[in-house]
Amino acid sequence: MRSFCLAAIVLACALPGSGEWRAGAASVNINPTEPVWLAGYGGRTGPSRGILQDIFVKALALENGGERSVLVTSDLVGLDTKMVEEIASRTQQKFGVPRERLILNYSHNHSCPVTGDVLRLYYELTPEQGAAVGRYTRRLLDQYIEAIGTAIAKLEPAELSFEQGLAGFAVNRRRARPGGRKLAGPVDHDVPVLAVRTGGALRAVAFGYSCHTTALSGYEVNGDYAGYAQEALEKAYPGAVALFVMGCGGDANPLPRVMGVTTPEAVELASMYGRIVAKAVEIVLRGPMQPVRGRLKAGYTIAEIPFQKGPTREELAARLPKEKGLPRRATEHLLRVYDREGKLPDRYPYPVQVWRFGADLTLVALTGESVVDYCLRFKDAFGWDNTWVAGYNNELLSYVPSLRVLREGGYEGTTGMAEYGHPAPYGYAVEEAIAQRVEELYEETKP
Ligand SMILES: [Zn+2]
Repeated sequence: MRSFCLAAIVLACALPGSGEWRAGAASVNINPTEPVWLAGYGGRTGPSRGILQDIFVKALALENGGERSVLVTSDLVGLDTKMVEEIASRTQQKFGVPRERLILNYSHNHSCPVTGDVLRLYYELTPEQGAAVGRYTRRLLDQYIEAIGTAIAKLEPAELSFEQGLAGFAVNRRRARPGGRKLAGPVDHDVPVLAVRTGGALRAVAFGYSCHTTALSGYEVNGDYAGYAQEALEKAYPGAVALFVMGCGGDANPLPRVMGVTTPEAVELASMYGRIVAKAVEIVLRGPMQPVRGRLKAGYTIAEIPFQKGPTREELAARLPKEKGLPRRATEHLLRVYDREGKLPDRYPYPVQVWRFGADLTLVALTGESVVDYCLRFKDAFGWDNTWVAGYNNELLSYVPSLRVLREGGYEGTTGMAEYGHPAPYGYAVEEAIAQRVEELYEETKP
């Protein structure tokens, strides 16, 4: 019996893919080359005025047992559906990476250029300003492919390990008391850290936090706190690529913050928050981390998430003459949908992804502006120590409220749907529809 067990263990260790990683990482500068409208806020009145900090798209390629997976991060507010489809199909054609093995995360940075159709109803752009966004987006798509290709070209033997740290500046932004001060609401202060080392030297580190990148709101290009965190880590570990992965930060803001034109005080806050996250990562990197040896299994599927009933064409036509600004653009958009489709959509095809690294680590990747409850729910379900939940992947479709947030009402998922061009808030089944698909993928990707 004893010799049989020994033989079984030796066989398992010799199987290809039982922990023999190859990894490669790359970053590509995505600074705009001309003034372009910056994303994320509806209130800006002009295009960008220079670069305060470089912004990047970065890729981490992982190979195990002959199968290749790529995690891509960026200092962008988001991607639209067409951009996601183009990046995914070019990545599949050029590098043989299937859709379920490509994760496209963005930091939701509010100091980057507007990209594609992301939140386009939010901004009132002239045709010239729209053309500048188009030129930026075109180049950006090539830069995504360049980052992915370079990371794959740099694949070499590596060891992976995972652990989580903590950082405390994210505040649940939903519960204001008189005077605008925030009441304590749920937050996720975990800082998940995936280290990629070769011969003990750090080659890449992917790390996350669940909080809006909204410490800055000026007119200069900047990576916000996530940019400062990545910059600090790349300075502390020369030659390593630091990739920021946004978590479920839909209802969290960094506080305190100062809004408006960039001031030295605002920059100091953004860089301080960045250094706090970087320090949390460094503390994790210096300590004992859990080896990640399991073979990566990947799953991708669509959750059909329902909308509540939208307005009729007659209701839209009746309210249009009274509206201006964003509400008017949103109503005109819905009337165009009626003209094109004859009806408004009653659901959204919502992508969910799960990567399981054997029993060592589970990475759940949700789409769009996921609120904190999703992070907490899936970590509770799959294990607090080795589960990483990333929001803000694929297209920036809207906020993605939990049932709790939907019942409470407010901006995330109720009043904030118009700027995303949606007809109505999501139905109360939204959280369960997503959770059911994630749980199915978790089972399908079982080691
Ligand atoms: Zn947001």
